[in-house]
Amino acid sequence: MEIIHISAECYPVAKAGGLGDVVGALPKYQNKLGHFAKVIMPMYLTKFLLDNKWELVHEGGQYIGSKWFHYSIIKEKTNKLGFDLFLVDINGLLDREKVYGYDDDTERFTAFQIAVCDWLGKWQHRPGVIHVHDHHAGMIPFMIKYCHAFYHLSETPTVLTIHNAEYQGQMSWDKNYYLPSYDSWKWGLLDWKGMNNPLASAVKCAWKVNTVSQSYMEELKQSANGLEDLFEYEKGKCIGILNGIDTEVWNPETDEYLVKKYSIENVEKGKRKNKKELCKQFDLDIEKPLIVFIGRLVKEKAADLLPDAISSSVYQHHGNCSFLVLGSGDPVVEAQLESLKHQLNGYVNTYIGYSEALSHVMYAGADFLLMPSRVEPCGLNQLYALRYGTSPIVRNTGGLRDTVIDYGDWEGFGIRFDQASVWDISYSAGRAIDLYYNKKEQFNTMRSYMMGIDHSWETSAKKYIEMYESLR
Ligand code: ADP
Repeated sequence: MEIIHISAECYPVAKAGGLGDVVGALPKYQNKLGHFAKVIMPMYLTKFLLDNKWELVHEGGQYIGSKWFHYSIIKEKTNKLGFDLFLVDINGLLDREKVYGYDDDTERFTAFQIAVCDWLGKWQHRPGVIHVHDHHAGMIPFMIKYCHAFYHLSETPTVLTIHNAEYQGQMSWDKNYYLPSYDSWKWGLLDWKGMNNPLASAVKCAWKVNTVSQSYMEELKQSANGLEDLFEYEKGKCIGILNGIDTEVWNPETDEYLVKKYSIENVEKGKRKNKKELCKQFDLDIEKPLIVFIGRLVKEKAADLLPDAISSSVYQHHGNCSFLVLGSGDPVVEAQLESLKHQLNGYVNTYIGYSEALSHVMYAGADFLLMPSRVEPCGLNQLYALRYGTSPIVRNTGGLRDTVIDYGDWEGFGIRFDQASVWDISYSAGRAIDLYYNKKEQFNTMRSYMMGIDHSWETSAKKYIEMYESLR
């Protein structure tokens, strides 16, 4: 089957979070199953663009409102990612260094979606399925069904994957003129509570919808940043499919970022060498349990609790643990963490920014990974941690609930808590410290066990294919 993934991110081309990881891996595993998956994304000015060779496959033009824009589609020549990768170049709009965060993001991603539909509409054949990811591609199911310019595609099955329903791409109705002309009585399919809402539109118009874990699907009916009723109403076509991880990229046996590669057989030694490196770099005590946080410093991840939770854990547990934080986001949290690192020098350190390399070393060198998330659609960090023998400390929510078993339960290997609160985090840090110092044997058994858990994409990729096939 020919599968067209449309996304704003794809690792290693451009990644801001889990969306990039998924779109960089799922198509590859679908191709391994004998399908023909391709990815279409915007052409940003990234290192990947400059380091690789491209061929021009199409040039076209369309209107966004009354403004004509020219676009080009370029294809990566060597198929090095394991799937055909197409980039959409729109001069002045998409060709920027960052993926998101510009004032004209609405215009950028609307133009991207128009260009994609225009190009797909010119193909001589129709793809088997058009698979859109998150709100940046969310108007496509509507556009191909109801915009006159794309009528050729109107019978093509569409699927939406929701990686994060907090972000919906809402725009006021005065931006409606951006869209190519459509059957005007269908405007309700774009609307949610008086705004044009691309994510809500995709939930209404896509033939099938999935979230990246089962629990998150259920939670969206209770809490979905305003879309709760919509998820309840559309539940018949919604399912949860847990993300996998790319075991070729995330493999401690072959990971080029690590000072010492390791497997289940030498996990203790391997992790210690990486921990030593990490502790040296960040001036932390290698003999103490090392708890790390990796991620966006935003409310969803409960990053606002980190400064208090970390200092409370260090004081309450008499300095018997160390913390290392890698992330960026809310400037207030960034500043608080930076000042904490001076206050608790030797116990706490931070790297404010984004570093793929450091994240790998942290998954390998840490003893515990903390994820107190308020919302976690799937969460990939805990899956990477498991693969690297690092025990996850997580809040009981979304994909974390589906993938982490508390060590107090049968075959458990992590630590779970219920409330996103300083108290719960600090209490859980205490349990981690106890495990590290007083239950060494159990801790080592847990490590080997968690590294053997299969979270590879093979199983999930099959579930996506089953979903597409149910649409035929
Ligand atoms: P989300 O998509 O909500 O940010 P996920 O857990 O699904 O969260 O995915 C996060 C991904 O981004 C992981 O691959 C994680 O390692 C990576 N990541 C997040 N912040 C950083 C950072 N500051 N440096 C390096 N990698 C990061």
